[in-house]
Amino acid sequence: MFKHTISELKEALVCLKAGQVTLPYPFEPSIVEDTFRGRPVLNTRKCMCCGACANACPARLITLTDSDGIRALHFELGRCTYCGNCRDACPQEAIEMSTQFETATANPDDIVIHAEFYLQTCRECGAVVGTQREVDVVREKLSNSPVRTNYADYFDLCITCRRKQAIHTPSLTLEVVP
Ligand code: SF4
Ligand code: SF4
Repeated sequence: MFKHTISELKEALVCLKAGQVTLPYPFEPSIVEDTFRGRPVLNTRKCMCCGACANACPARLITLTDSDGIRALHFELGRCTYCGNCRDACPQEAIEMSTQFETATANPDDIVIHAEFYLQTCRECGAVVGTQREVDVVREKLSNSPVRTNYADYFDLCITCRRKQAIHTPSLTLEVVP
């Protein structure tokens, strides 16, 4: 008993000598490094709603739903582990990992990202081709390419109608601009 008390006193003296060894968080904000990977943030100007982030998310918290000519991209960040897979998969660099890590809330709407995009439908059969933003992005990339094609004629066709058109009128041309 006496031995035990001595050892506890010794331990208390060591602690007193060491001073404060823990951070005052949450009473004061915790400062994180700039490279800290926190809550993802979506840049809706860059996003084209392609769904690559949804495929890459291990928590399956990113969904795409089509309704009334609109495709909705939705992040339910309650299950987010800040892994950064969505950012790495995005071809548009539309997702950044912020330094924000305090996401506890009583209102689930606080940790939701929601964006909506117009759909592009097939001019022949009306099937969904993708979003209009996707078509615009591809069109712009092709216009900046040294390879000139008539591929733009196919942009508003779904994959099935595109194949049919290519069989009946094999008019896809390629020309490298010097
Ligand atoms: S991968 Fe990028 S461009 Fe595609 S839906 Fe996700 S955020 Fe948008
Ligand atoms: S950071 Fe990871 S878990 Fe969170 S939304 Fe992106 S892919 Fe999903």
